[in-house]
Amino acid sequence: MKNFFDNSLIMKVILITAIIYLPGTTISESKYTQSLFTPVNTLSDSNKTKFPEHYFRFPLKPGVDLNVLTHIVSLDNVENGFVYAFANEEQWIQINKLRLEIEELAHPSSLYDHEMRSTHTIMDWDSYPTYAAYRNMMWQFASSYPDICRLDTIGYSVQNRLILVLKISDNVSENEDEPEFFYTSSMHGDETVGYILLLRLADYLLSQYGQNTTEGMRATRIINELEIWVNPLANPDGTYRLGGDTTVNNATRFNANNKDLNRNFPDRISDTNNVLTGREAETQAMMRFASKRNISMSANFHGGTRVVNYPWDNGAPSGQYSACPDDAWFIESSLSYSLTNPDLMSGSFINGITNGCEWYAVFGGRQDWIYRWHGGRETTIELWDVKNPPGSVLPQRWTNNKESLLAYMEQTLKGIRGIVTDAVTSQPVRAKIFIRNFSGSYVNTDSFTGDYHCLVLPGTYGVIFTAPGYVSDTVNNVTVEDSIAIRLNHVMNRIPTNITSAEAGMPEDLRLAQNYPNPFNPTTIISYQLSMINYVSLNVYDALGKEVEALVNEKQNPGTYQIEFDGSGLPGGVYFYRLTAGELTETKSMMLLK
Ligand SMILES: [Zn+2]
Repeated sequence: MKNFFDNSLIMKVILITAIIYLPGTTISESKYTQSLFTPVNTLSDSNKTKFPEHYFRFPLKPGVDLNVLTHIVSLDNVENGFVYAFANEEQWIQINKLRLEIEELAHPSSLYDHEMRSTHTIMDWDSYPTYAAYRNMMWQFASSYPDICRLDTIGYSVQNRLILVLKISDNVSENEDEPEFFYTSSMHGDETVGYILLLRLADYLLSQYGQNTTEGMRATRIINELEIWVNPLANPDGTYRLGGDTTVNNATRFNANNKDLNRNFPDRISDTNNVLTGREAETQAMMRFASKRNISMSANFHGGTRVVNYPWDNGAPSGQYSACPDDAWFIESSLSYSLTNPDLMSGSFINGITNGCEWYAVFGGRQDWIYRWHGGRETTIELWDVKNPPGSVLPQRWTNNKESLLAYMEQTLKGIRGIVTDAVTSQPVRAKIFIRNFSGSYVNTDSFTGDYHCLVLPGTYGVIFTAPGYVSDTVNNVTVEDSIAIRLNHVMNRIPTNITSAEAGMPEDLRLAQNYPNPFNPTTIISYQLSMINYVSLNVYDALGKEVEALVNEKQNPGTYQIEFDGSGLPGGVYFYRLTAGELTETKSMMLLK
């Protein structure tokens, strides 16, 4: 194992915690509950006035309408007859106007004095890094494994902290024909288990790469066949909110503007304008990142309970199931995370999974936004009952989640995949791919490589390819098995160009005239004018966009040119001729009469 962490002497302080009964939950592993070290409410007492957000619960009684309340406060959990929620000051005033029997609770991140490390070593992964140590660790990953790891930024937080992301893949600096997978954690800054798990996952994958063991070969395959993005900390201001950069004690759910980032995205029902304007810095950064990438599958880690939550998060009354078009796929893939996971399987949800809306309705959440606007398959995974637990529980969380983390990534290698190219240029086409009878479900091709990854369960499908300016096609009887994805490359043909609009925007240095005569049989003259030296090509295509003749393909001087086109041997009908000079291009149509 390639281990870049130094072995500097760090006293392993045993973090001692009391047996704490959190509202509605208990820390169920008694081996982590030890004798009292710090009075449990010390932090809470000394910092109560500092907290810019309120944590509270109220009984879920008849007349308590979560469809309304979800728009007023940030609902966090519905369990054992109680609704748990967070509110900033403004929301707190609003919610207190309603008669809800509100009981304010100690903030979940005020319960422990966390063991922190200021070096980039994590040793036994049973502590949290300071913010500087975190940044250093991310940098170390990239510098220690430059061939398979690159450090990138998603953007900046409100307080100008970096939102870092690692790309892990073979040929890491290239865009390859590989599905992109994204793990991101702690957009709720006080939900910190996923933060450490993702750092450890990165360390695990990178150090296992190329090892000639069963584990090593699995990690190698995942790195070779996927483009993995890992963002351990999506809301750094929240995580280090009240501790400066030095501690995760008193971390907050919200960002520095006291906004819940997982209620801040465009929403297919309540906020349908998919624009950056008016959103938090962290949300804007994430929206830009998602737009630049073509993420096939992702998971967004949280804490507070134990469950994989899948779309939709709304669309039915809160508490009722709201199935998305890929409901069956989401159930199966969510189970691929939960079924081998002792934490999730021992939580309060059947098989450790839930439909989002059936649990409680959320508007402006990330997973629905990704699915609706990017065709990506995202889930929200709640890892552990305690949002911001002592570091001593983290090693067991890794043990219990490791198989899930790997198996979940491997799901992106199933289904249907391929490359979509232009029939004439062979260039990638920015296409949208639908599965027939799955209304509302789609995936995009990657604009750099043209690859797409359509995640579907085993079965036989009709696959529909569409792209602006191209003829749509359906490929029937595509059979998918429960193994690696079936490959279905596809070539698309341009549809007739609107001549008027093509001419409207043309610069003066390229002039393509209408052919004469037109209609014609069998010959016609195509003329054009060139105002500067350029590489010129003039090609003729049939109505499907298939090239039938290349008339010119050379460097030419400025001047007027006349080229004869002979349609003998071609069937009658509409043809297109396209002139390209450097980056300029113009297309017109002509009619061959027979
Ligand atoms: Zn959360």
